Amino acid sequence: MRGSIPSPGPATAKYGGNTPCLEVAFADERIIFDLGTGVRELGAEWPGPSDVHVFVSHYHYDHLQGLPFFGPIFDPRNRFHFRGPTRNNRTLKDVVSGQMQQPFFPVTAEMVFRAQVDYQPFSAGDRLRLGEGVVSAIEAHHPGGNLTYRVDYRGASVVYATDTEHGTERDAQLVEFSRGADLLIYDAMYTEDEYMGRIGSPKIGWGHSTWEAGVRLANEAQVGTLALFHHDPTRTDEQLDELMRTVKRHRKATIAAREGLTVRL
Ligand SMILES: [Zn+2]
Ligand SMILES: [Zn+2]
Repeated sequence: MRGSIPSPGPATAKYGGNTPCLEVAFADERIIFDLGTGVRELGAEWPGPSDVHVFVSHYHYDHLQGLPFFGPIFDPRNRFHFRGPTRNNRTLKDVVSGQMQQPFFPVTAEMVFRAQVDYQPFSAGDRLRLGEGVVSAIEAHHPGGNLTYRVDYRGASVVYATDTEHGTERDAQLVEFSRGADLLIYDAMYTEDEYMGRIGSPKIGWGHSTWEAGVRLANEAQVGTLALFHHDPTRTDEQLDELMRTVKRHRKATIAAREGLTVRL
């Protein structure tokens, strides 16, 4: 997958050109994080009537724009519990409805969603118990705000830290939040050289991070596997392969997220 904008084509086929969407499953619970264009393919492989929790990190297009093309939302046998923060005085429901209205979209969510859908606020500091699992969140450093999520279940844990920029007081908070996680999914859109402007224009303040910051964070928080995420849409698979060879010299237990990848914890 890639961040910011869908980037299909032969140069991105290996890691994928869809925008962020991932699923975490344990016991009978299923959780979807973010509704980027990747959710369309998740819907295409749907196992049947389901009761699923959906957490949205923030409402930038690349994390929301797949929802109107998510097949299971049109099936009355499915149930979805949407959760996300209120931003700019707009609730999660306002935002979901707002992206599906003319002139942006031909039909409204109210007109076409057939699944049972409920919307509940979820903010930094909140914790939700799901069976024996717990979902928690902190605020990321990202323009307009963003939530970093963590899921814990029977000693296994994953942190979903997309769309976050290093270099503020939130870094220490993220280290604590990620402590001991088995898997840390981290925004590694840029290299340090790109971020600082040694290659191209500087990216400071754009709300994204680097693999170098990801490695520092993962080591400090003593996480198991670091998964680089939100790849730059202009970075080809070939460039990403080459980048990963460099990254692995610094931290062996690092992978590049790609579409369809399953990680068992
Ligand atoms: Zn994004
Ligand atoms: Zn964003």
